[in-house]
Amino acid sequence: MEYVLNYIVAEYLVLIPVLYIVGVFLKTSKFFNDKYIPLTLLGLAIILIIFFQNNFTFQGIAQALIQGILITGATVLSNQVFKQLQKDKPFLSLAAVANDDQKGEMGTITNNSETIKTVNYAPIIGMVNNNQEGGKVMPVKVYLDAGHGGNDPGAVYHGYQEKDLNLEAILYIGKRLTELGFTVGYSRTTDINPGEVFARGVKTQGYNYLLSIHCNAGGGSGAEVIVNCKEIGAVVESNYRTELSRLNNFRKIYSRKYSNGAIIERNIVSGKFTNVVNDLDWYGILRGCWSVGVSGDLLELFFMDNINDLNIYLLNKQRYWEAIIKSICLTFGIDYQESSDDSSNIKAELKGEIEQLKGIISDKEAEINILQAEIDSFQPITLYQKKERT
Ligand SMILES: [Zn+2]
Repeated sequence: MEYVLNYIVAEYLVLIPVLYIVGVFLKTSKFFNDKYIPLTLLGLAIILIIFFQNNFTFQGIAQALIQGILITGATVLSNQVFKQLQKDKPFLSLAAVANDDQKGEMGTITNNSETIKTVNYAPIIGMVNNNQEGGKVMPVKVYLDAGHGGNDPGAVYHGYQEKDLNLEAILYIGKRLTELGFTVGYSRTTDINPGEVFARGVKTQGYNYLLSIHCNAGGGSGAEVIVNCKEIGAVVESNYRTELSRLNNFRKIYSRKYSNGAIIERNIVSGKFTNVVNDLDWYGILRGCWSVGVSGDLLELFFMDNINDLNIYLLNKQRYWEAIIKSICLTFGIDYQESSDDSSNIKAELKGEIEQLKGIISDKEAEINILQAEIDSFQPITLYQKKERT
C-alpha cells in the first residue's frame, strides 16, 4: 500500500475518499451490478484526473490513465483491508478460537434454514403426563455427547486432556439421569472419536434434548452455554445459569453465527430468548440436531487453561454435574433427588491421584540416581596417550 502511494501524485490522493464513497453508494444501489464497480471507479478517476490536469494531449491522457489506475487500485485495496479487519473482529474472542474445530461440515439442513423454530420446551414438558395409575409417562429422552475423543484430545492443559474430562462428566450425568428415569443416549462411552460433529447432531433424531459437554480454553473463567442461533425456548439454559452460578463464575449464554463466526449474547426474559440470531449455527452438532428438530446446548464447563478454574472444578466436579442434572430435571418437570453419594468419593479419588503422582516422583528420582551414578563413574575416552618428552 505504501509503495502504491509513493507513485501517486499528492493532489490526487483526495480522490481516494471520493471514489470510496461513490463505490459504497454503487454497492448499496440495487440497480448496479457489483462486478462493474471497480471498472466504473477507474473510468471516473481517469476522467476526473484529465480535467484536473487540464491537459488533453496524448501525454496528458497517458499520465491520467496511470494515475487513475493507481488511485482506483488504492481505493479498492483500502476497501479490502477494511473488510478484512471487520471480518476478523468476531474471532478476537480467544475463548471462541478454542472451539473453531467444532464448526464441522455443512451437512444437509433438511429444515428451511430461514424458518425460526417456534417450539420451546412446553411440548416436551407436556410429554411427562401422569398415566392411569398416577405414575409418570416416561421417558424423556436425552442424548449426551462428550466432546472430542480418541485421536482428538480437545484442549490439553496442566496434564489434563479435555476428552477425558468431558467423558467423565457425561458418564456420571448419564448414569444419574438414567436413575432418575430418563432414557439416555450417548455419542460415546469410551475413548473413541465419535465422528464428524454435524453427523453426531443428526443422531439425536427422536430425542427430546441434546447436551454436548466441553471444557473451554483461551483465557477466561466460568461456564458458558452455547445455544442454537434460532432457539427460542430458554428454560434449560436459564436453569444452567442459576445452578452453575452457585459454584463458579457463570460467563454467558450465547450463539455463534455460521456466516462470520460472530458471537451474539442471548438475553432471556421469562424462559424465552428475546433475541433470535438469524443465521445458521456455527457449531456442527447444534446444526445437526436442529436439522432433525431437536433442541440442544453445548456446555463449556470451565476454562482448562485457567488454573484457578481447573482447581475449583476438580474439587467440586460432582457438584457441577449435579447442577446440570438438576437443571435438566427442572426443565422436563422430573423430580430431582440429590445423589446419595457425598463428595467423599471425590476426596478419595484425589488422594488416589496424589499417590499416583508420588509414585511417578519416586520413579523419576530413581532414574536421576542412575544418571548421577553414571556421571560419577564417567571416564573420558582417550584415543592416544600423550608421551612425556624425555
Ligand atoms: Zn471442546
